[in-house]
Amino acid sequence: MNEHSILKGIAVSPGVAVAKPLIMRRQEVQIEKRHIDSDCVDAEVGRFRLAVKNVKENMKAVLESLSGSISKSERDIFNVHIALLEDPELVDQTITLVKQNQCNSEYALDNNIKTISEELGGIEDDYIKERVADIQDVGSKVIMELLGLYPKGISEIAEDVIAVAEDIEPSLLITADKKQLKGIVCEQGGLTSHTAIIARNLGLPAVFGIKDIVLASENADCIIINGDQVTINPLKDEVNQIKSDIKQLGAYRAELNAFIKRSAETKDGMRIGVYANIGEADEAHAADQNGAEGVGLFRTEFMFMGRSQPPTEDEQFTTYKKAVETMKNRPVIIRTLDVGGDKKIDYLDLPKEENPFLGCRAIRLCLKNKALFKIQLRALLRAAVYGNLKIMYPMISSLEEVCEANVVLDECKQELLKEGVAFKKNIPVGIMIEIPSAALCADILAEEVDFFSIGTNDLIQYTTAVDRTNTQISNLYDEYNPGVLRLIERVAKCANDAKIEVGICGEMGSNVMLAPLFIHMGISELSVNISSISKLKKMLSCIDTDLTEKAWTKIAKCKRSGEIKSNLNGILQEMDLSFLLNI
Ligand code: PEP
Ligand code: MG
Repeated sequence: MNEHSILKGIAVSPGVAVAKPLIMRRQEVQIEKRHIDSDCVDAEVGRFRLAVKNVKENMKAVLESLSGSISKSERDIFNVHIALLEDPELVDQTITLVKQNQCNSEYALDNNIKTISEELGGIEDDYIKERVADIQDVGSKVIMELLGLYPKGISEIAEDVIAVAEDIEPSLLITADKKQLKGIVCEQGGLTSHTAIIARNLGLPAVFGIKDIVLASENADCIIINGDQVTINPLKDEVNQIKSDIKQLGAYRAELNAFIKRSAETKDGMRIGVYANIGEADEAHAADQNGAEGVGLFRTEFMFMGRSQPPTEDEQFTTYKKAVETMKNRPVIIRTLDVGGDKKIDYLDLPKEENPFLGCRAIRLCLKNKALFKIQLRALLRAAVYGNLKIMYPMISSLEEVCEANVVLDECKQELLKEGVAFKKNIPVGIMIEIPSAALCADILAEEVDFFSIGTNDLIQYTTAVDRTNTQISNLYDEYNPGVLRLIERVAKCANDAKIEVGICGEMGSNVMLAPLFIHMGISELSVNISSISKLKKMLSCIDTDLTEKAWTKIAKCKRSGEIKSNLNGILQEMDLSFLLNI
């Protein structure tokens, strides 16, 4: 009998599934040199051109299917790769090699990539390094296509399967037979990989980061995905249970759709804003369609990335105007430029830093580069005439920074007034609370601003001293850390005392288990990914003051994050809402 085992990974796309594993192994490639007769060289060049065309079309299809769910910078990466397939250095030079050496094109391309990599590889420049990686990545796709090994998709499957692989190409998912493919499990990849994004878009359960899963499920008859857990060779009872869960989840999904049009409020009628986080103006439309009551965070940095110059004032004005008009007078909180850290912009010529997350990031950079900051502030002031726009400064660590930023804002107002350009004079200005010093001085800062929005992604990082991008210590990056929860409680109290609004726009806002605590603390708005809006509204509709008080009493006594998490999980179970974690 096959061995029963349970393995855990990262649930990059929530859900449950049961099916036979389809093992997908990465092909080992041997590139051998073949002689091509002189009268066949043109045909070989044609074969190469066709391969390039096929890969290009495939990448365009992937890009199209990702549209709306990836940021501009991610889209730019795809466009760079597509453009490389027209790059003379890569394409024309390979054709020259085929002709000169009368050899097969995969061999010529492989050599060409090696030469380019060697030539550029020694240059100490991040941009060049990335370009070499791009060339290698795109080049290997063409080689696979030439060898007939480019993955064509999980399209010819006769039965239900869960794909199991080291890593899965995004294009494979796009072309997969969606009726038969029930889920994916990978050894590599994380929450933000493109394959993960596509899986979430398709509503396909996916667990990544399980070491040796390919080997472990090689001889299995059946596997189960349940959240972040994968069961190999499940028992009969487990299979029956999961089948009934799958049926139930379908019904729950349909039920959640009803919440799109409903306003977000608790069982006892308390209104909590459920807003959306967006990365570009077009996403405001999707936010609107999915029931967002406002935009709680417009990350404007994507507009500045993947280009050679910053966007002009008019370009920014058009973008912000579009977002506020789409939201039809509902609040749109637009964050001023937040680059630095892990988000780089070549044209800003930022010096290399030992600790970029603790370096010249966000508001610090804008206050050093006031000309750049002013262009954005002017565009925001002008766009505010067309809707309910609010300005938000990121990475505030002290009162001085708020005052200095406001001086620049006043200068912009004076300039626009002099120029006779229309703008909104009394525009609300808020700050992100994402640095412990700001959280601890929230009472002081509340006197100076119109609202707070808690950036929990950074607040966790800076409070617990855990680099949010370091996968080695990701177990320490903890939403339930009592220190983090205490800071959030303090910020909410200070905001409530000062009678200003306080929202959460970091990922913690979409964690339904935490909602009772946030309500009790007095958080007035939760800004989340578009796909989490209806489940959060559902959660809120099941909460009342009694429950939030009970939850708080329990949690306030807990000393460890594990206890907090299991208590909150228990509350969700008692309410029969555990299914929300799988949606
Ligand atoms: C945050 O830090 O929580 C946040 C919303 O901002 P970002 O993730 O863009 O740093
Ligand atoms: Mg942040």
